[in-house]
Amino acid sequence: MPTADRLAVQILRCHRCGTLDAGPRLLCPKCHAAALEAQEVDGAGTLLSWTVIRRAPARLKSLVPYAVCVVDLDAGVRVTGRLQSFEGDFAPGARVRCVAREGAVAIFSTEA
Ligand SMILES: [Zn+2]
Repeated sequence: MPTADRLAVQILRCHRCGTLDAGPRLLCPKCHAAALEAQEVDGAGTLLSWTVIRRAPARLKSLVPYAVCVVDLDAGVRVTGRLQSFEGDFAPGARVRCVAREGAVAIFSTEA
């Protein structure tokens, strides 16, 4: 469950088959039912990979440089988000947690 030091991440769950998906999408990727509903899951997970963006589209230029990351949430779904900081000593496999949300974007930080 989310705690004071980590936030939930919003994903999609299929009403028919229970599949979790990062979305956004209209149909379940497994059973193709139009039965997806938003659900929040715990924001703890494992960092799979990241890339640093140094040339961004106009609407994101104020964030440059920033790191887009892929996280396998403990809830069993793979999501993309941003790393709060990409300085420091961490590697794929590092434990991360969601510490902020900007609209639909989850911001992750490595666990201390
Ligand atoms: Zn389904």
